[in-house]
Amino acid sequence: MWEPGDVIVHQEAWRGRVWAPRPMIVVEDKADRLLLWIPKGTVRKIPATPLDRIDPSTKDARAIENLARGDWIYTDHTWEVSSLWILCPGDWHAVWISWSEPGAQLGWYVNLQFPLRRTSVGIESMDLMLDIVVEPDFSWRLKDEGEFEEVVRRGIFDEELGHRVREEARDAIESIEMKQGPFAEPWPAWTADPTWPIPSLVDGWDVVAK
Ligand SMILES: [Mg+2]
Repeated sequence: MWEPGDVIVHQEAWRGRVWAPRPMIVVEDKADRLLLWIPKGTVRKIPATPLDRIDPSTKDARAIENLARGDWIYTDHTWEVSSLWILCPGDWHAVWISWSEPGAQLGWYVNLQFPLRRTSVGIESMDLMLDIVVEPDFSWRLKDEGEFEEVVRRGIFDEELGHRVREEARDAIESIEMKQGPFAEPWPAWTADPTWPIPSLVDGWDVVAK
């Protein structure tokens, strides 16, 4: 278990390769729930098209080609909002709450992702394309549904995985509409410890940790 304030690495990994790693600060680590903080200005790595092939013109096409070919390189990306992540072991999603400034909630976000696996440096998961954007008033919309369907259509995510993700999204939407779980809790009023720094990636971010 980690202590509040520890910096860990959340490694997204696909077929044995790190896809998108980001440093995060541990807020709380309990058996049934892990809370992580990523402040505005945190620099993470995201996959990019190798220099020897043509870069697809859209973010969606770029991600799909990189997933299909497995040849991505990395580029820096700066996180533009401050977010608290709520992760429960076994869940196929994380709930994010984001703020533009302390106390100014932008909204919630349900990120469909593989259940977390604890590693020696943090956790491993993988973004599963489909997302749910939730406004502070709990109205919601699906995001990147077209990208997700394309990934399933091309067999990059197999049918079983596609089905599991859609099922998880349906359950999450029910929680949003019924205001259950984290959506019933006073997270919008939560603020981070002001002494926490902006976390940085440490060496080894590019190798999936054991
Ligand atoms: Mg996502």
